[in-house]
Amino acid sequence: MGKIRDNKLIIAIDGYSSCGKSTFAKSIATELGCLYIDSGAMYRALTLYGIRTGLVTKKKIQIPELICLLGTVQIDFRKNSSGKYETYLNDENVENDIRSVEVSDCVSSVSVIKEVRAHLVAIQRIYGKSGSVVMDGRDIGTVVFPDADIKIFMTAKPEIRARRRYDELTAKGLLVNFKDILKNVRERDLLDSTRKESPLTKAEDAIVLDNSYMTPDEQMIWFRNIVDHNR
Ligand code: C5P
Repeated sequence: MGKIRDNKLIIAIDGYSSCGKSTFAKSIATELGCLYIDSGAMYRALTLYGIRTGLVTKKKIQIPELICLLGTVQIDFRKNSSGKYETYLNDENVENDIRSVEVSDCVSSVSVIKEVRAHLVAIQRIYGKSGSVVMDGRDIGTVVFPDADIKIFMTAKPEIRARRRYDELTAKGLLVNFKDILKNVRERDLLDSTRKESPLTKAEDAIVLDNSYMTPDEQMIWFRNIVDHNR
């Protein structure tokens, strides 16, 4: 990570599942007044599309057929009336559907597909051309934007991450089981960090943030220090 030089900033936030990457990234984007892109939502939206078309199940993915459909899937983000960005799949708001347990169970198997990654990475890079952007995911600092101005690698204990996800889903009224969530967090960690294509790994020049025992406000204080330090 070099010194911050100009007004157009690319901030890459990578890390394990349910680390609070999106909450942190959104706060940064709000503070800096720039675009926030949740790259995980793009993999989730594509997975949802695969499930709906019957090409993706937990047991099997019809890879060639899914690849053929990539060009017909349109994924974008639109602001709602309260200024929050929501994920759209072919003009349909899928923000809630992409967070379901079914999608979480299949998404890491869809995201290992090379062609899927190439397709979504190309779209993610276009967002980076439009101006300052904060993007979170698994390969943002390593593959999507290797020259990002600030790279952060987030981590937290698996049990703490599962608890946060459990609280988030139950707050939405979903009936979920803590053990299943913890299992899913561990499975995704393993799949994401051991896959052949763009595995989840800390970029050499990324700064590690373990937020196991940090509040969102403390994370922002940490972030402001990083920015001041790199100016
Ligand atoms: O960030 P989130 O947990 O919503 O991401 C869902 C899944 O999408 C991850 O578990 C991972 O398999 C995949 N993903 C990815 N690369 C990214 C973002 C997400 O492979 N840049």
